[in-house]
Amino acid sequence: MTPEAQITCDVVVVGTGAAGMMAGLAAAGSGARVYVISKMPHRAPSPTTRAYGDITWSSEETTDELFRQVVETGGFLNDQRRVRQFAAAVPSVLNKLRIVGCQFDAPKPAGEGMPGTVRWSYRGVDAGEELLQRFNDGSAATHMWLFAATQVLVNDGAVCGLAALGLKAREPVIFRCPCVILATGGGAAAFERTDNPPGATGDGIAMAYEAGAELVDLELISFGYPKGRVTDVLERGEQARDELLDLGYAHYFLGGVRVDERCETTVRGLFAAGEVTGGLFGAGRLGGAALADCFIFGRQAGHNAAFDAQQRNTVIPQNLHNAACDRIEEILRGDRKPGPVQERIRRIAWQGLGPLKTHASIQRAIEELDAIEEDLAFTGGARRDEMRLAVEARHTYTVARLVAEASLQREETRGCYWRADHPEPDNEAQLRNIVLRKAKRGCELSSQPPVMTELTEPTTPRIGAGCFGYIER
Ligand SMILES: Cc1cc2nc3c(=O)[nH]c(=O)nc-3n(C[C@H](O)[C@H](O)[C@H](O)COP(=O)(O)OP(=O)(O)OC[C@H]3O[C@@H](n4cnc5c(N)ncnc54)[C@H](O)[C@@H]3O)c2cc1C
Repeated sequence: MTPEAQITCDVVVVGTGAAGMMAGLAAAGSGARVYVISKMPHRAPSPTTRAYGDITWSSEETTDELFRQVVETGGFLNDQRRVRQFAAAVPSVLNKLRIVGCQFDAPKPAGEGMPGTVRWSYRGVDAGEELLQRFNDGSAATHMWLFAATQVLVNDGAVCGLAALGLKAREPVIFRCPCVILATGGGAAAFERTDNPPGATGDGIAMAYEAGAELVDLELISFGYPKGRVTDVLERGEQARDELLDLGYAHYFLGGVRVDERCETTVRGLFAAGEVTGGLFGAGRLGGAALADCFIFGRQAGHNAAFDAQQRNTVIPQNLHNAACDRIEEILRGDRKPGPVQERIRRIAWQGLGPLKTHASIQRAIEELDAIEEDLAFTGGARRDEMRLAVEARHTYTVARLVAEASLQREETRGCYWRADHPEPDNEAQLRNIVLRKAKRGCELSSQPPVMTELTEPTTPRIGAGCFGYIER
């Protein structure tokens, strides 16, 4: 057995996108010993580095309007407590970013007395990278690239560490820490067609689920389309299915890990921020709101995790430690290339769980996924990309399977979620959050009314692709 490396710290942040870098900055700024890790090489593309750079903007006066726009765009599936937090934090978020040296163009309100968006001033493909470099330079956290997290370690219902595969040294790495922040982004690259760069495979969603945390509305995924084509194809319903599959791409995960107002999941010490989380945006989001989400809640997760880490000492039980290392060893010893099985998962996900799904297509995807589960065993390899792909294939499989389970439950069309066999929104029966949790005998599903603390009379849901513009008043 390869001897594993061990690191003791207060907080590990998984992910070096906008949410992870912000979380690391905040946690280290609060005095915690923090490691921020990424499975990708330094400066590799991520959704954050690819982002166009539009960020939600609002003044104190337009906070209530922003709140209303987020909830109406989300089809009232949002957790309104978190939307209130979000709307309240937007007016000051840019100032916090300016402190670490970020620059922005002048804000563009969506209309008279309306919130709007602002764009960062760096131009070109490296804009997001430029921003992340500012975080890197300003942070007291230790950043480590090429470490692929495999498992959150939980003992007695609370986090005690994180296991990762060190892709450079080809060894298991065990972090002993009371708090982990998942900032691993969404899972759009779990689909064959996507505008997300490789690596956006929903690893954090799978790890949270395996750790026992709740997921919310995982079926809600936004697909992008060339402008002007969506209304046309949606009107033609199922006949347009092939066209939708040829033209579209998975863009953004609206659902994900369920967190409370402190950004903590239902597992103590496990925090999450950014696209990995669900519940804030419901069934659709405003353009620019994803980055604002990362900055606002990345910061909160960092502060709260740093505080919590001081309250608890942790020990990793030997059997848990050994089992986590064994899982990594299996990948290191793997003699089957992970690429082909990963591509099959992504194809199944696109065909059966992509845009315009039906009960039959989801059911077929479940059967096809069940049939290939065994092929994941023994996948691995000695090359860095193979090791990473083997970790991702396992996570992608879990995510695809869970998206399928959740999709079976939502029988309607709302926001970015389209069902050819249920083409209308159904406020009577479907105004509910679908919650997934790992139970002893497999996936446990439940549904709960959305948290409606302020707006209680749902409007007609918006339906569309990608992300939405502001509703004109
Ligand atoms: C083309 C495009 C344009 C966009 N434009 C905009 C825009 O203009 N405005 C807007 O608001 N939003 C935009 N978005 C959405 C927005 O960019 C993303 O939602 C946001 O950047 C996600 O940030 P994040 O920090 O949550 O995760 P990511 O940026 O996805 O970062 C995830 C990090 O986690 C790491 N990671 C994942 N799994 C593991 C693991 N197992 N172990 C270790 N590390 C791991 C990855 O390597 C990466 O560092 C756009 C998205 C795309 C694809």
